[in-house]
Amino acid sequence: MKSISYNNWSVARAAEIYGIHEWSSGYFGVDDQGQLQCNVTFSDKESTTASCKPKSVHVPLMDIIEGSKERGLDMPVLLRFENLLDDRITKLNTAFADAIKSTNYQNHYRGVFPIKVNQQAQVIEEIAQFGNRYNHGLEAGSKAELIIALANLPSNDACIVCNGYKDDEFITLGLHARQLGINCFFVVETFCEIPTIIKTSQAMGVKPLIGVRIKLAAKVDGYWSDDSGDRSIFGLSTSQLMEAIDLLKAEGMLDCLQLLHCHIGSQIPNIQNIRAGVLEACRYYADLVKEGVPLGYLDMGGGLAVDYQGAYTNATHSMNYGLREYCVDMIESIIETLTPEGIPHPVIITESGRATVAYSSVLLFNVLDVSHFEPSPIPDVLPDDSCEQLKSIRDVLDIVGVDNAQECYNDALYYRDEIRESFRRGQVNLRTKAMAENIYLAIMQKIVPLISQVKRLSKELEALPESLSDIYYGNFSLFQSLPDAWAINQTFPILPIHRLNEAPTRDAILADLTCDCDGKINNFTIDGSERKTLPLHKINSGEEYYLGAFLVGAYQETLGDLHNLFGDTNVVSVRINEDGSFDYVREMEGDTISDVLSYVEYYPKALTESFRKRAEQGVKSGFITAIERQKMLKNFGESLSGYTYFEK
Ligand code: PLP
Repeated sequence: MKSISYNNWSVARAAEIYGIHEWSSGYFGVDDQGQLQCNVTFSDKESTTASCKPKSVHVPLMDIIEGSKERGLDMPVLLRFENLLDDRITKLNTAFADAIKSTNYQNHYRGVFPIKVNQQAQVIEEIAQFGNRYNHGLEAGSKAELIIALANLPSNDACIVCNGYKDDEFITLGLHARQLGINCFFVVETFCEIPTIIKTSQAMGVKPLIGVRIKLAAKVDGYWSDDSGDRSIFGLSTSQLMEAIDLLKAEGMLDCLQLLHCHIGSQIPNIQNIRAGVLEACRYYADLVKEGVPLGYLDMGGGLAVDYQGAYTNATHSMNYGLREYCVDMIESIIETLTPEGIPHPVIITESGRATVAYSSVLLFNVLDVSHFEPSPIPDVLPDDSCEQLKSIRDVLDIVGVDNAQECYNDALYYRDEIRESFRRGQVNLRTKAMAENIYLAIMQKIVPLISQVKRLSKELEALPESLSDIYYGNFSLFQSLPDAWAINQTFPILPIHRLNEAPTRDAILADLTCDCDGKINNFTIDGSERKTLPLHKINSGEEYYLGAFLVGAYQETLGDLHNLFGDTNVVSVRINEDGSFDYVREMEGDTISDVLSYVEYYPKALTESFRKRAEQGVKSGFITAIERQKMLKNFGESLSGYTYFEK
């Protein structure tokens, strides 16, 4: 593991170590005071001032925290930046528009946002309203999501793409959309949906717009590699596709089949996979058109990645391409396949989820406590009656050096384990064991700074810094707010949002508030390398220390769960203005204890009544007075209406 240099510290070095320029796409930076800031650029069109130059404004996150506190919204807080959401939609649409222009592509782009990636009303409403200028639509994977799409999309020029299993009710809703002139496509995911679509649309006398999802053979790199190719769960096999065409033809409905859909995977880190997928999809497209299917839309699904690691590689949580390259490669591949066949270029749809919303949300939390793994002072001389193993381990402490680091490690481990064994047999007492373990810790701490100079580093020595690193306890639940860090070991950029002008002096892993051993984060990208520990500052007494987990806008909010009954956090949405001010446009208090208890079918009134009886019994038995009972019930009631997270 590469050692990190903290010499000649500056805010620029802080940005480098935490990879801010690499993962943040320019949306975040560090100011001269060492505060993390959100950067927003107002382009000519948005500018309301006479000057037409794009203008950048920067808002420190600490200022937003201050204002949130004044509004009664304490940590943890999920902070959403509406400007960043708008900017992502603009970037996606303009990147496709530019690629279309530069390649002379003969059709246009229609983006749809997959609601499942972030279903929160604040997010969907903003996407629908702001995205209207680009006819940006929505993808719905269930009846509930279709209802959201129908109620939110303001114009008929945007598309609604219905994926997922569809029953009669789902199809009826989609057909109502058609009656209203909305471009609502039913994407057939499994063959058995087709008869239902035919039956319901014939019964209602409404022509549906149909798409078919195909299973591409192209496999993708990354976490979902095993689910791609022939083993993908949804989509028709080639023979089912032929049957579907025959069935629609027989029903006189082939003209309804206008869209070809595929989704080769989410977070595709390698551009080669995307190119291969588009080329294969276009072969299907071309042959279906030759079969007489009047296709006009090609939907390439999601997959546009986010560089969570800021590494610009094809590693799972990174990506080896940019947005411009993604659009150009996709369009060039379509042209390359369809133009020689004389097939008109289709409308291109993509269902980019994470690339649209990941940047716009940051989880902010404070650190509540720190565990250090540091020895207490070691006496120069041991008591005369100390056992031989204790004397031996004490001797090791005095001779630790670069050349014998491994040997000292081996010896310390040996003597410590010997003493533990003797303790188990009742041959040494608890004080001796404590002294041995303390000396062991001192030896290990002495070895750690030498590790970078050790020539042939063993696995044990390599793992030593992590095993001796601090544990910083954060006021958040991993399972509620960063579920993918637990479920798929995803990396998120996590860093202090202030004090970045001070060199960090501690190495730490993070633990959350749940009492679960999995509730920890020990997976970071630091100074361009993967590391198990995060450089952090010493906590100053009486001062809060704030960390931010970035790129959390996609999937995290809805996949989060109530482990240990930690509920939704407070949410604050801000809009940054051109003059550098910002408005708290929306705020939502997080779940109360009452809320989370009712989610798991406890009734706060019934709980209060049971506790009241218990307290009354306490009065009767003489454990408490009636006045104490009153105070107890008041506290019980206040807890029920309190925040589920740590409150000061
Ligand atoms: N479309 C479909 C059908 C999906 O299953 C998914 C997610 O897996 C997406 C779009 C969104 O993918 P991403 O967030 O990678 O853009």
